[in-house]
Amino acid sequence: MSSIKCKKINKSFGDIQVLNDIDLDINMGEFIVFVGPSGCGKTTLLRLISGLEDISSGDLFIGDTRVNDVSPKHRDIAMVFQNYAIYPHMSVAENISFGMKVRGNSKAERKAAVDEVAAILGLEHLLDRKPKQLSGGQRQRVAMGRAIVRRPSVFLMDEPLSNLDAKLRNQMRVEIKNLQRRLQTTTIYVTHDQVEAMTLADKIAIMKDGEILQFGTPDELYSRPTNKFVASFLGTPQMNFLKAEPAAKGKLLLENGCTLKIPPAYKSAVENLDNIEIGIRPESLRIGKQAKSSTVNWQSTVDLCEALGSETIVHFETAEQAFQGKISRGADISEGDMINVGFDAADVYLFCGSTGECVGHALNG
Ligand code: ATP
Repeated sequence: MSSIKCKKINKSFGDIQVLNDIDLDINMGEFIVFVGPSGCGKTTLLRLISGLEDISSGDLFIGDTRVNDVSPKHRDIAMVFQNYAIYPHMSVAENISFGMKVRGNSKAERKAAVDEVAAILGLEHLLDRKPKQLSGGQRQRVAMGRAIVRRPSVFLMDEPLSNLDAKLRNQMRVEIKNLQRRLQTTTIYVTHDQVEAMTLADKIAIMKDGEILQFGTPDELYSRPTNKFVASFLGTPQMNFLKAEPAAKGKLLLENGCTLKIPPAYKSAVENLDNIEIGIRPESLRIGKQAKSSTVNWQSTVDLCEALGSETIVHFETAEQAFQGKISRGADISEGDMINVGFDAADVYLFCGSTGECVGHALNG
């Protein structure tokens, strides 16, 4: 396993700049996820690290070695892609050991390596099968096996699960996490799925328009987002937002007519803002009877109830903003009902309406 360091990395394709001043420090053995909307540069950054794409400027280190000019095959990395290339005419065992055969390893060495990898991935009973006799998940495991057998210092995975159905994705996600824990190989995993990012990563890099907006543990990013994009990207349903403006007596007037007292710690931050938005996560909204004792509360009409089994998502509007809250299973709320909604200042995030920067949260504090 190796550490990876990106220093002021830029990448352009002709006139189009797709990565801007990427700085990133990845420790040995960490599981890192690059996540962000389509076109933000995740795959390009992964390809730069793999060596499949040249860096326009900046420095890339794997371990202590600057690898800008080192070819992919000498970087000691293994890649797993969305379209995993396994050879249809070869058995599972032959697919896993193909690279070793090319490199001239003996039959005995190949068999020992295949047996070890098959045991790790639960493929022992499938070694003689051809890919067409396997399920999607089993094929994906063979592709992982080909990567693992090399015992690389770094795994790079680009949306490796996106061809699988939802149930299999969940299952493979757990397998990949367990595998990485066991092998302790530094891993970078690209996805646009925030649930995958939250559940797999030791640390997440959230990307937008060729930049890393925030890099940290899933919990840091969820509970202390530095900007509105990160706050709204992580979390299902996403954070609710309301515009606000400073009002008399140190209060904020929210666009739905409610007021919120600004704590002294945030007064100067608010005074400097032209426009303000507050954010509140769905699970922090109180809905029903308990809403009345909240710092801020009002009434709305329920537009839709989405029963998810263990909980129900309640959709409603306030000041023409779509809001979503969560209620527990069995709560007596239906579409068309007038409900009390409320939240506490401690659960509010405060954003600059122009830049999206988060200027405060836990407003009781
Ligand atoms: P997705 O989630 O859709 O795969 P991504 O975040 O991985 O997106 P990239 O594939 O890294 O995004 O692409 C980043 C930007 O670079 C996009 O605007 C893309 O059009 C552009 N791009 C990627 N490869 C090339 C290329 N070879 N030539 C020109 N532009 C490219």
